[in-house]
Parts: sequence; structure tokens; C-alpha cells
Amino acid sequence: MNAETFQRLDKVIHEKGRMAVMSTLAAAPEVAFTELRDALGMTDGNLTTHIRKLKNSGYVSVAKSVQDNRPHTTCALTAAGRKAFGEYVALLAGIVKEARWSEKKTQPNESFIQPLPYKAELTLLRAEHLGMCFGVRDAITMARHEVAAQPLTILGELVHNDTVLDDLGQRGVQFENDPKRVVTSAAMITAHGASDKARARVRAAGLRVADATCPLVHFAHEQVRKLAAAGFHVVVIGRKGHVEVRGLTEDLDECNVVLNEKDIDALKARPHFGVAAQTTQPISRVRELVDYLQARFPKSEVRFVDTVCQPTKQRQESAEEVAFQSDVVLVVGGANSNNTAELVRTCGKYCDSVHHVQKPDDVRTEWIPETGTLGITAGTSTPDETIDAVEARVREINGARRPAHRTA
Ligand code: SF4
Repeated sequence: MNAETFQRLDKVIHEKGRMAVMSTLAAAPEVAFTELRDALGMTDGNLTTHIRKLKNSGYVSVAKSVQDNRPHTTCALTAAGRKAFGEYVALLAGIVKEARWSEKKTQPNESFIQPLPYKAELTLLRAEHLGMCFGVRDAITMARHEVAAQPLTILGELVHNDTVLDDLGQRGVQFENDPKRVVTSAAMITAHGASDKARARVRAAGLRVADATCPLVHFAHEQVRKLAAAGFHVVVIGRKGHVEVRGLTEDLDECNVVLNEKDIDALKARPHFGVAAQTTQPISRVRELVDYLQARFPKSEVRFVDTVCQPTKQRQESAEEVAFQSDVVLVVGGANSNNTAELVRTCGKYCDSVHHVQKPDDVRTEWIPETGTLGITAGTSTPDETIDAVEARVREINGARRPAHRTA
């Protein structure tokens, strides 16, 4: 089956839960929300998330009424939804038909069974966009340049990658979290950025600031500042405590950081919400949460500014494509890297066997199949050399499995 055929499958529908919702709705003109929930064995929250995504894609409509003094919600496929589902099913049927056809073609002839020559059939698929982004690359270059001229301390982790940090350490770079404990005359703010308050603390410690903040993090700061100045209550979608999120929020008098629907449920009502996101959050999830916030506070104005960075979007999209086509996916990146963790989550939606590795030695023999497709993607802190080394390790394991008397 041509990889292009798989790519043509509608990505909105091609997810276990949403496919179940679409196929149930396809069988009736409309279905009550509660019936749908019970039929599919989903929780309210889970079904709401799927319905929201399908509604945003124009595939499902939702109608609310009151019956016997109780709210009654029904869902139905729109005309666009029926058309998309029909096309999706037709494409799937084609895939199944072709698989059956090739199965038939390869049925062994029982009167003439002999071993086929061994063929290395594991295909490696690298994501189109993967690995280190320009923001991290520039920050590393700046650190190398600075330390060549004078001693330098980096405040926090420049990147979530041990290989890169070891290299900088060998060049004489020191690492410290607290500016008061820095013994060099210069300190670097990482690509993740910092609040004005944090910068002031660095200056108060008598240090010269080398600023490696990524321009796209600067952009996020600017947008958050503008929202607050325009009177919006700022909500940042991201991980509480992550260095970038701390930088985005520390200067605000009041704000909330949310990562899921539960966090949004806990928010107080405000007339105006201004929403921005940590630059490495998956944009599809961010949009879902923005919609959820609006649904939770229908009377409030919700203004969303998209601050997810382009390299993250590209890596997320490429990871989806690779995971969709793969039997196994390796995601290469640091253990503390948020965007690597998000890539693992994204790949898990499309592939059942996803493994997060930091280095070649982490690749386990039992993960590597003899045949099929193995996808590789990597977070924005991962250098090319680490990705290449992981790929080489996969080839080594796969090659080591080849029977000695057969050739590839
Ligand atoms: S992940 Fe995005 S925001 Fe962060 S350093 Fe890279 S390009 Fe900049």
C-alpha cells in the first residue's frame, strides 16, 4: 500500500474515539449525548473532547434543548461530516481490499515450498522535521562563543540534552540556578527566556547578562504583556513550573496556568480571558483547550493569541505523519524536554509502540522489529549526531538479527 494512501485518510476521523463517534452518528439522523456516551462507554469529558474536535472540523453539529425541565443535548453528523466519513470508509475499504489481494498473491504454493531468500525488510522513516530548532542552536553557538572569551555560567539548563550539556561543560561553561551563587562575571539566560523580575535578580547579583532568549519566546512574552495591558485575565496553556512558563507569568499581577480541562474547570469566571501558550505545546491540544474555556465561560470574551512556535508545529505534524505509517516509533530527546514528551504523546495517538530514548544505548533490542516500518523523530533540543547515532544503533540491532547464512 502506497504511503500516500494512508496520508489521505482524514486525520480528524482517524482516531479510535472519534472514529467510534462518527460511525455511531452515521447510523442515525441524531443521537442524544447521553445515549452516545453510554453506547460508546466513554466519560462525559472524553466524549465532549471528541465532539468538540469533530464540531470544530465541521463534521458534527450539536443541538441543545430542554425536555422535562432538563437540558437535552443531541449530536448529529453534518452534510460535510457524512461526506468525509463516506470518503474515509471508502479509503479504508480500498486499503483492506489491497491487503487481501496481496495476501492472496503471496499464498505459498504447497507443492513447492522453499525458504525465500532473506531480505532486510525494516524500513526506517525519519520525520521530515525533527531535532534541534534554530532557537536552541543559536543559544548553543552563543554559549560557545561567550565562554571562549570569558568564564560563563548558564542559569538553568540551556537545553534538555546531556550530550550538549557535557560538551559545554568540557569547554568550561558552568551551570547554576541561583544567580547569587554564580562565581563568573557573566551569566546566560537560556533560549527559554526569563521574566523581567528574574533579569533584575541577575543584574542585582552584579552579573553581566548574556541573553539567549529565542525570538519566538520573546514574541510570546510580548503577546502576554499586550493581553494583560488590554485588560484581559491572562491564561497560559502550559506546564506549571516549566522555566519558560515561569518567565511568561512571573511579571503578571494575576494569571493562571492550565494544562487540561480540569484546570479550566477550576478557573474563576472573568469577563475577558486572554490566552497564550507555552511555545512547545501541541497546537491542536491548545485549540481544544481554548474552545473548552469558551464553552465553560460562554458569557466571557476569550481572546487567543497563537504563541506556539513554528518549529514545534512542524515537528508535531511530521511526528503525526511518521507515527501514522510506523509499527514502532523512537522519539529521541532529553528526559526533561517538554516538547519531546509532547512528541511521545502525539505519536502514541497513531502508533501503539512508541519509545522515548535519550541516547543509542537506550534502544532495546526487543523493540526493534525485523520487518515493517520504524519511525524516528526528535525533540527541539536533540542534536543531529544523537539522532544519527540512534538510527545507527537501530540498523546495528536489525542487522545483528540477520541469519548468518543469508544476505540482505
Ligand atoms: S522550541 Fe521554538 S520557541 Fe523554543 S527555542 Fe526552539 S524555536 Fe524557539
